[in-house]
Amino acid sequence: MADSVPVRSKILDEILAHARSEPHIECCGLLAGSDGMITAIFRATNALRSPKAYEIAPRELFELFRTMRDKGLTHLGQYHSHLSSDNFPSSTDIEQAGYPDHPYFIVSLLADSPKPVRAFRIRDSNVEEMEIIPT
Ligand SMILES: [Zn+2]
Repeated sequence: MADSVPVRSKILDEILAHARSEPHIECCGLLAGSDGMITAIFRATNALRSPKAYEIAPRELFELFRTMRDKGLTHLGQYHSHLSSDNFPSSTDIEQAGYPDHPYFIVSLLADSPKPVRAFRIRDSNVEEMEIIPT
């Protein structure tokens, strides 16, 4: 694996809870913290309301970044869910990945998913899984 990403366990629970609370559309949101440790989650609205894609509206994104700054937090990652496929980045996810240094967390809502939350680094169309370190 490429690298590890430390995350508060509570945040992993909250990512899963968000995904499960929106079983018919992909959920999405941002992750933040400090010193590389993810300690905060910001739920966002999937502007596409789609079961196969997600997008955060620019206005909401702007507001989320402002709230993050006001709280003294650093943007450290993002997450979204896959409803009926494995939690590996889709070709669209890879195409649209704009943060080469951030982990992309993906939740699988498949009942038999061996690892319901996984994190990936997506850089120059290369995907490397990151080890999630719950703390
Ligand atoms: Zn995806």
